[in-house]
Amino acid sequence: MPVESGRLWAIREVTSRPVRSLPEMTGGGRVTAFFGANTFDAAAMKQKLPKSAFDSLQETIRRGSRLEPGIAGELAHAVKEWAIEKGATHFCHWFQPQTGLTAEKHDAFLTFDDQGLPMERFSGAQLIQSEPDASSFPSGGMRTTFEARGYTAWDPSSPIFVVDGPNGKTLCVPSVFISYHGDALDNKTPLLRSMEVLSEKALQVVRLFGDQASFRVAPTLGPEQEYFLIDRAFYSLRPDLVAAGRTLVGARPPKGQELEDHYFGSIKDRILAFMQESETELYKLGIPIKTRHNEVAPSQYETAPIFEEANVASDHNQIVMETMSRVARRHDLVCLLHEKPFAGVNGSGKHCNWSLMDSAGRNLLEPGATPERNLQFLVFLLAVLTGVHRRAGLLRAAIASAGNDHRLGANEAPPAIISVFLGDQLTRVLDGIERGEVGGATSADRITLGVLGVPEVARDNTDRNRTSPFAFTGNKFEFRAVSSAASISTPIAFLNAAVAEALGEFHTAITVRTGRGQSLPQAVLEVVREAVVATKAVRFEGNNYAPEWVEEAARRGLPNLRTTPEALAELVRPEAMAFLSKTKVFSEAESEARHHVRTERYAKDIEIEIESLKNIVSTHVLPAAFRQRALLSAAGDSRAVRGCLERLDGAIDELVARAADLQAAAERAAGDGLQSRAAAYANLVVPGMAAVREVADRIEESVADDLWTLPKYREMLFLV
Ligand code: ADP
Ligand code: MG
Repeated sequence: MPVESGRLWAIREVTSRPVRSLPEMTGGGRVTAFFGANTFDAAAMKQKLPKSAFDSLQETIRRGSRLEPGIAGELAHAVKEWAIEKGATHFCHWFQPQTGLTAEKHDAFLTFDDQGLPMERFSGAQLIQSEPDASSFPSGGMRTTFEARGYTAWDPSSPIFVVDGPNGKTLCVPSVFISYHGDALDNKTPLLRSMEVLSEKALQVVRLFGDQASFRVAPTLGPEQEYFLIDRAFYSLRPDLVAAGRTLVGARPPKGQELEDHYFGSIKDRILAFMQESETELYKLGIPIKTRHNEVAPSQYETAPIFEEANVASDHNQIVMETMSRVARRHDLVCLLHEKPFAGVNGSGKHCNWSLMDSAGRNLLEPGATPERNLQFLVFLLAVLTGVHRRAGLLRAAIASAGNDHRLGANEAPPAIISVFLGDQLTRVLDGIERGEVGGATSADRITLGVLGVPEVARDNTDRNRTSPFAFTGNKFEFRAVSSAASISTPIAFLNAAVAEALGEFHTAITVRTGRGQSLPQAVLEVVREAVVATKAVRFEGNNYAPEWVEEAARRGLPNLRTTPEALAELVRPEAMAFLSKTKVFSEAESEARHHVRTERYAKDIEIEIESLKNIVSTHVLPAAFRQRALLSAAGDSRAVRGCLERLDGAIDELVARAADLQAAAERAAGDGLQSRAAAYANLVVPGMAAVREVADRIEESVADDLWTLPKYREMLFLV
């Protein structure tokens, strides 16, 4: 009896999977009954803390200031009591090293008192700082081995939480991760730094408009997370998915996404069960998940939370990715966060909806009801345009990764060129300002800045341009080019800093003019007008996917950084480093270290792909081709058989030759230093892998179905 191939076993497994339903997960139905139950939120604090400590901590969080050291002891005690009541046995500082993942080292509360009796202890010092022996995380040379210590320090702006494990719970303290000398070793620190400078500069601007009450301006962030779910049985038979997170071979299915029948379609029970269980866990952790739906590609989905302050939103997005990955396994699914797990269908991104909010909760990118508010709106709008225009290269660098290279510039994703879409109405407003025109027309949906003769500003700008990497959507921007798998901290930190820089310059330019006796509205309009002219090149309302845009963008002088190594080089351009250090996001040494870490990561990702592809060619594709050959040889000597054999032999020869070329290119590159190795990977090795794949996929289409061992696209994407 022939042995059943793993692939056929997987198909049987998958098609007989039950829906795993967990009625008890809903916590009695009402989300408000358990939302935030596993976070040390205001309600828990109020219950556990003396009033003075509670007030002091709330004020720290509200103002984004530093913790009063005197209350650490009380706070730690309260946190411990709360966590132990929840069933926690351990605590950890939860931080975000430059692996893109989160890290935790658990310590038990257990200790012994003077009499040698066991007790649970958690001190103020343990809450505030810890020194994990975390010397194996990438630092880019920021830590020499003799001072390899890294410190984690509590970030009070992000809520402390308890995570459920199968057999116990752990208290997690969101933390920054820094070196002995205070250099950032993580993704959270630069984001916090950028938020500080942004708040400072934005406050200067709102003060100009008479707002003396606001004490803080924070970026708000709502990241829409895209992902794929495939059955675990298929996943486990795909060495490329296991090693690299994406398929390196695989012929296109007869049906892909052309029918657009998946997008927003009804969600299958098995998938819905996964979503509901993930959401329940996320709600308990205080993460405000709002939407879920099928995305464009088969087996692709999206979830989006209600926006929060950027730092908390970024922490929460890390938890979302981890929770979905963990819960998926319980449902015999695997959550693929890679930007391009399957060629030929859409990839995944993380649309980062971003705006600015003052301490009274007002959205500063919302066109206002009064002329003054609208003038202020224009200042903030132009600050974003200026920042994105001037720092486009760095924004591109921030989102660069081996995975995102397959998405940016592919036909469903924004190109690697950063441009901004504003929509018709705002475009008309800015064009009018540029021409110095007096606006007049009013209609219900527009607000006149009549007194000044400024054209009206659109209140409800709902037109959309799905192809833009950075689009205004009425009262916020949507940064769409961000990658699905990566932490969003760095792109948002760079965006914050770029806008802060522009706001600072505008503030100076406006005050110089008012100092010369100009009225505020006049001064603001002049500064805005100059910015409109200066940023014209970055505004693009057309189709970003069209090949003509690439030429047009080049004429406009916009950077088009096609590959990750090219994009990352932006991090160490002297002018960019000066900007990052001026805004305190990265010192020059930190920029260099990031450049090194990110380039090395890119190289490692490609090396894993090369190894994985070689392995697949020699252990799956070639053996299947040879079995097919034997089948044909045994099929007699007809013209048809001879034709098939000839074609198959041709393909086998081609595959072997292309694999040898790839190997040679990889070996040549491997001898070089990191920078030239990465460049050679991007320019020679990645195309070499695509060439190997192209023949492998042709072979897949000519091998008998029962001889093919790798799960096929049509199975992975359509059978769940
Ligand atoms: P779409 O798919 O149409 O882009 P979604 O509803 O999926 O829209 O996502 C919109 C996201 O934008 C949500 O996460 C939402 O919370 C977020 N958002 C809305 N207003 C703001 C804001 N002022 N600042 C940041 N994010 C916002
Ligand atoms: Mg969306």
